[in-house]
Amino acid sequence: MKMNQTKTELALLGGKKIRNKPFHTLPIIGKEEYTLVKKVLDSRLLSGFIAQPGERFLGGPMVRRLEELYCKYFNSNHAVAMNSATSALHAALAAVGAGAGDEVIVPPYTMSASATAILMQKAIPVFADIDEDIFCISPQQIEAKITSRTKAILVVHLFGQAAEMDEIKKIARKNRLFVIEDCAQAPGVLYKGRKVGTIGEIGVFSLNQHKIITCGEGGVAVTNNSELALRLQLVRNHGEVVTAKMGQKVFPDIIGCNYRLTEIDAAIAIAQFKRLDRLTGHRIRLAKHLTRKLKGLIGITPPKVLGQNKHVYFVYPVKFNQKEAGVSRALFIKALTAEGIPCSGGYVRPIYLEPVFKRRPGHKKGNCPVTERMHYKELIILPVSRSPHTIKDMDMVADAFKKVLRNTGPLKKYEKGSI
Ligand SMILES: *Cc1c(COP(=O)(O)O)cnc(C)c1O
Repeated sequence: MKMNQTKTELALLGGKKIRNKPFHTLPIIGKEEYTLVKKVLDSRLLSGFIAQPGERFLGGPMVRRLEELYCKYFNSNHAVAMNSATSALHAALAAVGAGAGDEVIVPPYTMSASATAILMQKAIPVFADIDEDIFCISPQQIEAKITSRTKAILVVHLFGQAAEMDEIKKIARKNRLFVIEDCAQAPGVLYKGRKVGTIGEIGVFSLNQHKIITCGEGGVAVTNNSELALRLQLVRNHGEVVTAKMGQKVFPDIIGCNYRLTEIDAAIAIAQFKRLDRLTGHRIRLAKHLTRKLKGLIGITPPKVLGQNKHVYFVYPVKFNQKEAGVSRALFIKALTAEGIPCSGGYVRPIYLEPVFKRRPGHKKGNCPVTERMHYKELIILPVSRSPHTIKDMDMVADAFKKVLRNTGPLKKYEKGSI
């Protein structure tokens, strides 16, 4: 029987695409966002912060309501909302006292702010390689990087999955190190039943445009330690002119920034935060369906989830084996993209290869071989497991994978230039 050409011929080679509609990249905005923003506008208090001791030191009503929501959800004593997760990461490093000459261990496979926040404190980022199954920092690699100057470990729960926190906490306790958790991609993620962000000393969440919930720009740090919370608040809001007047605990070393979140942003974040579990629940349903569909395909390894952990699939990472699939990753991605499926080879360049790190001693190609192999050879990132997409959309993604894998013959010819 002759196969239906239009159905089987790859879009890259002139055939019909599997999907014509683009995948959505914008957040869902509901009625409550409008209501709460209007409330702020009506109040004319666009920012409640004043850099003086007293109530207003902690911001306006929306900022505080947002912080209450975080405290309740994370069962955490303190939440400090800021204008970005980058700000909150910097404040966290300042709060734990990471300073000039101190070393902070961080994975190289993360959004650059995880590492630049360390530089902002004049501390030294020390890159420890990742685990090749979950893509988060490897405890064994952390241990190998500890020196007498190590001050903290900055863990990143990458792509929406928890790092191996028990092992990391054990290493931290043994060496008296602070653990800061970068949860920008992992709100509501569980590690052995515990919410990430509450396992280390400080957890940092992002509310930027591209994250699971968003107010445009914003970040929140949570902690159970009141001294760290006060330091975070001082860094957020010009602490140097506030600390002496506070009369209680004084931290004369504090340099404050303006990391204050506006009331309108906080209002949007409140409405978004209430939707968090529903949004992540939907992501998990989509991702699990896609995993069932991709399982067993030659050369494709769907994301692994360790134990009973909860992965929220900020993105859907797939491992690609070029030898098994029979075509290069670059070509596979080109063919998948042509079918109308958004995807990319790898996530971000290993951070130590960016100029600001590369010109510092010891940062060069080859430093973290697993990260480099994932980034340059094996990982395919699909930003598809999100609302308002449906199970049907996931079927299309899986169909595109199958179609491309069925057509590696023509693809190889195309690569050789004979098509
Ligand atoms: C987005 C992100 C950040 C920075 O968040 P902003 O709110 O944009 O500053 C930090 N770390 C990771 C892992 C991120 O994904």
